[in-house]
Amino acid sequence: MSSRILLSLLIAVLIVVPSVYAESVRYVIPLEGSKWKSSIIQVHVSGGEEWQRNQTLQALLIWNRAQLWIASEYFPNSSVYTFEEGDSNAPVQVTLLNSGTVVGSIEAWTDYHAQKGVIESATVKIADQNTQEALLLLNVHELGHVLGLGHVSCCDSDLMIPYPVDRQASYLPTTLDLYAVHVLGTSEYMPTLVFLPNSIPYRTIPEAELTLPESLNFLAILLVVPVITLFSNRKKKP
Ligand SMILES: [Zn+2]
Repeated sequence: MSSRILLSLLIAVLIVVPSVYAESVRYVIPLEGSKWKSSIIQVHVSGGEEWQRNQTLQALLIWNRAQLWIASEYFPNSSVYTFEEGDSNAPVQVTLLNSGTVVGSIEAWTDYHAQKGVIESATVKIADQNTQEALLLLNVHELGHVLGLGHVSCCDSDLMIPYPVDRQASYLPTTLDLYAVHVLGTSEYMPTLVFLPNSIPYRTIPEAELTLPESLNFLAILLVVPVITLFSNRKKKP
């Protein structure tokens, strides 16, 4: 083989291999090593002012609706985690700190109490932010940790990057974040890294999926309650 052919082959390998490699490793997220056993996770929100607590409640809804979206797109009938507002005994305690109570540059953090890979409780502290958007983003980010997600290093605007507010990340969960939560919720094993499969494009959830009108929720309750009543009545029959 002539040296010119060899050189061409070498150049081709240098061009092709890194691009294929980059494609296959690009969308990856580490996990924290534990998961929730129950699909319903109760969250108690305290501290701060009402507008601040509303950002946490909004963040709970975002995760709930985003998971329903990815389930309907890719995993019909699979179970999802559902955040619910709970009382002061809830396993997840989110405390909003008033301005001036935080030392240094720490904006938010999450501590777990986990045993043998099962998260039993989590404590979240979130510092005051200048804007509603920044506070919402921090809440969605910390709730991602509560679900068991770590920090991504792949994707600049993913809400699970470290310091998402400084880097102006989107508050919308991505298919990578949501796929990882799906893996946590449905797998028997606990991976340390989750790769987004090629069959799912990397993107943020469409905004429209998060703005389900309250009247529709009400309608859903109206439809679900009679069905549950019907089934519970049936079970009572001998
Ligand atoms: Zn974080």
